[in-house]
Order: sequence, then C-alpha cells, then structure tokens
Amino acid sequence: MVEYPHLFINGAWVPPVDGELVESIDPSTGRPWARVAFGGAGDIDAAVRAARAAFGPWSRRPGHERAALLRKLAVAYEAAAPELARLETTDNGRALRETKADVGGHANSWYWYASLADKNSGRTIPIEDAVLAFTTRKPVGVVGAITPWNVPLMSALWKLGPALAAGCTVVLKPAEHTPVTSLELARLFEQAGFPPGVVNVVPGWGAGGAGESLVAHPGVNKIAFTGEGATARAILRNGAETFKRFTLELGGKAPHVIFADADFDAAMNAATGSAWALCGQSCALGARVLVQRPIYARAVEEFTRRAARVRVGPPLHEATHMGPQAHAEQLAKTLSYIEIGKREGAELVFGGARPGGDALAGGFYVQPTVFASVRNDMRIAREEIFGPVAALIPFDDEDEAVALANDSSYGLTAGVWTQDVGRALRVSSQIEAGMVWVNTYRYIRWSTPYGGVKQSGWGRENGTEALEPYLDVHTTIISKTGKFADPYAT
Ligand code: NAP
Repeated sequence: MVEYPHLFINGAWVPPVDGELVESIDPSTGRPWARVAFGGAGDIDAAVRAARAAFGPWSRRPGHERAALLRKLAVAYEAAAPELARLETTDNGRALRETKADVGGHANSWYWYASLADKNSGRTIPIEDAVLAFTTRKPVGVVGAITPWNVPLMSALWKLGPALAAGCTVVLKPAEHTPVTSLELARLFEQAGFPPGVVNVVPGWGAGGAGESLVAHPGVNKIAFTGEGATARAILRNGAETFKRFTLELGGKAPHVIFADADFDAAMNAATGSAWALCGQSCALGARVLVQRPIYARAVEEFTRRAARVRVGPPLHEATHMGPQAHAEQLAKTLSYIEIGKREGAELVFGGARPGGDALAGGFYVQPTVFASVRNDMRIAREEIFGPVAALIPFDDEDEAVALANDSSYGLTAGVWTQDVGRALRVSSQIEAGMVWVNTYRYIRWSTPYGGVKQSGWGRENGTEALEPYLDVHTTIISKTGKFADPYAT
C-alpha cells in the first residue's frame, strides 16, 4: 500500500482537517493499492483562502515570469512522465502503452501554456478623435478545477495550464477513483518553485463532499469542469447562487462516418482503435461507426477480426492493448448496456462479456465488443456507455450520413472518411461537433481548440482560445481633452 496522507494547501503538505483516508482501488485486481487523504468542506475553505491570498501577487506578476515558472514545471513534468504514467495506469487501469504515449506528450502542452502567459493583450478601439478606448485582459480570479478519472493528468493540465498562464490561482479536486497523480502533480509545482497558494490540490468526494463545497464557495470565481452531463447540471445549480462562471467538457457519442470510397484499411485502423482506446472510456471515442452500405458487411467482418486480436490484460504489461474498466460501477454500467443492446435487437457479433481466466478474475475487465445492425434510435447509439462497445450503423447516402451524425444530443467530436474532397468539405462543415477529423481520428494537440457543442459542453480547452474563459475584458475610455459639457447648462 502506498500512503498519501496529506493534501497540498498553501504550499504545504497538510493532513485533512475534516476529511478522511480513503483507499484507492487498483482496477486490474479489484484490491486497494493506495490510501489517500480526502478533504472536506474545511479543507476546501483553507485551500480557497490560500488561493485568494495568492491571487493578487500572482495576477500582478509579469507574464514572462509566470511563463518561466510554467517552463520549469514542464521540465520537471517531462522528467517525471514515465513514473506519472505508471501511477496513472495503476490508478485507472488504462494500458501503459497508451498512458505513456499520452503523458509523455504533456510537457509540450505545459510549454504551450507557458508561451501564452504574456500574450493576453487587449486591443485599441477607434471611436472618435476626442477619446482613446482600449481593453486590457484581467484574470478572473480563483478557479476550482474538477476532473474525471479517465484522463486525470490531461484534464488537470488542460485547466491549470491556461488558468495559471492567465494569472488565476487554482484549487484542483480530482476524481475519487484517481486521486494519486494529482497529488504527484502538486509535488512538481512545489519543485518548480510556484508561490504558496497558487496551486492547491484537495482530493475528495464530489457530491456531498469537497467537489460540492468548492462549487458553492463564494471565494471561487470560476469552475472548470470535465465530467458527465448529469454532474454538470448539479454543478450549474449549485454555482448559480454565487454566479460562478463555467467551462464544461462533457460527454460525447461521436459519429465516425466511413464512406464507401474511403481508404478502407486506414479507416478501419482509426475506427477500431478509437472504439477500444482507453477501454472505451474516452469522450472522443468514435462510438457510433456509421458505414456506407456497400462496405458495411466488410466493416463488420473487419471489426470482428480485429476485436479478436485485442490483447486484454494487466495494464502495466507492455504487451497489453486494453486494460480493465477504471472501477466496478463502470464495468457494471458497460455490461448493462451490452444487455440493453441485445434486448433492443442489435446483433452482438463479438465480445459482450468479461474475459475468462483466473489471471483477470479480480479485475474489472470486459471484452472489446462489436454490435452490428444497430439503429441510431437504440439506446446503445444514443447514450454514452463509456465502455469498449462499438455500434456499427449502416447508411445509404451523404444526406442520411449527416442526418444520423447530427441526430444526437452530443456534439463533441466526429470523424469523416472519404477520398472525395468536396464531400469531405460538405460533410465536415455540416456535422454538429466542436472538432471534426477528416481521414484521421483522435488527433488532439495543445494548439488546436477542443470542446463541444450541444450537450457536450461549453468553452474550449487547448489553442489560444483556452485562455479566454480565464480572462475578463476590462474596457477603458480616456478623454483626450478632459472637457465634459454641463448637461443642465441650457
Ligand atoms: P463525473 O462523475 O461527472 O465526475 C467528474 C468530477 O466531478 C469528479 O471529480 C467527481 O467527483 C466530481 N463531482 C461529482 N459530483 C459532483 C458535485 N455534485 N459537485 C462537484 N463535483 C462533483 O464524471 P466521470 O465519471 O469522472 O468522468 C466521465 C465523464 O467525463 C464522461 O461523461 C466523459 O465523456 C467526460 N469526459 C469529457 C472530456 C472532454 O474533454 N469533453 C474528457 C474526459 C471525460 P467523484 O469522483 O467523487 O464523483
């Protein structure tokens, strides 16, 4: 058992004042592997007070100095990345080969946000000769960052990077299932020499715990949240009392549209990879695979053949393609959707069960699963399963593909495969999603804005756009004459 008995508040490692020690479960065995301090309302209050006290000096610090500290953090992060990847995989079960690739690239994002720290300039606005009008950008204040368990380090980075670059201070509350790497991240901020209170990390429960206290706290100006829509609704209601501002990165049910003229092998590589990556626990999954009818049977066959090749196993083994689901409730949810799919009349062509064998018995494993003959009105096509379940839906023509793609309450990501440039442009521009990939998939970089429309969220992370939600616009108009007419003179 690894012990993490402290929270990181005001630059110090402190035991919770009204929290507890909670076991974190290794999803590959179902057994606890770490004991972690969870904070309560009192700890959140201390963290928010620290962040408020740090906000003035941090926000006034020249951008290039904030940038220099973020670059130091990036250097420390790069050195720690292999160990961070191992810990994240132990905590959430994502195959190490995936976590290594993901976490190994995070330093680039930290460098990117460092580069934005002195780029928050305003503009001058021409009106009349008598005045000079200009805007400046001011950090919004203290940010509460609330993150999910599927990509804990990435979600924290996408919030802390722009917040700190903008001059905000932060209280981070990671998911109850994966608290460990956020505490490790706090160590790196300490090592990089960030002033006390600029970054505070308080693991804890969401509903009824640290998360709820953070959203309700009057000292917090903004909540940056990644998670489910239902949680977002609760957070919006809770934050309304104190007029919080929000960015929300929510779920997805991405259409992955494959036309008959596509490069079939490339499309299958992308579509199968994105169906089962992260054991299906990604908002960006191509969960609805829309395939044009002339190649539909071949695509079903190919999905089935490739599913049989996926090596499901202990996530720390380098050879493993797909680890377990991150926790027991998620496994139960995935299995229940597989039953729903069967009852709805979809054709289960591969998987659908827990893999056999003693070696995997205690873990939360599930087979890569393929459903054919899926209709877009079935629940397995409409609701976010968050498991490795591919739903293959046939379509006839371009209009139907667009209609099916958009017949969803979500609008986060989408994929289009075709060799016809005109069609690529027509279809990609009509799909209602924050990010559309053409002849590629899950291509996500620090410099390209990422986020959803419809019920997939508000705001963008990554890109220069990521700074916007952390900055207020401050307008100044100065008279060049200093004269002001008496309104009652006549
Ligand atoms: P979740 O259940 O909504 O939880 C997210 C975070 O909110 C956790 O830290 C959770 O704490 C906390 N929380 C729960 N209830 C709360 C409340 N009432 N007040 C304040 N905080 C509260 O989501 P998840 O299951 O961890 O993550 C999966 C979801 O995230 C999926 O829907 C996925 O699509 C989405 N996601 C979206 C993106 C994106 O970029 N759009 C990226 C990754 C994931 P507890 O852990 O204690 O519940």
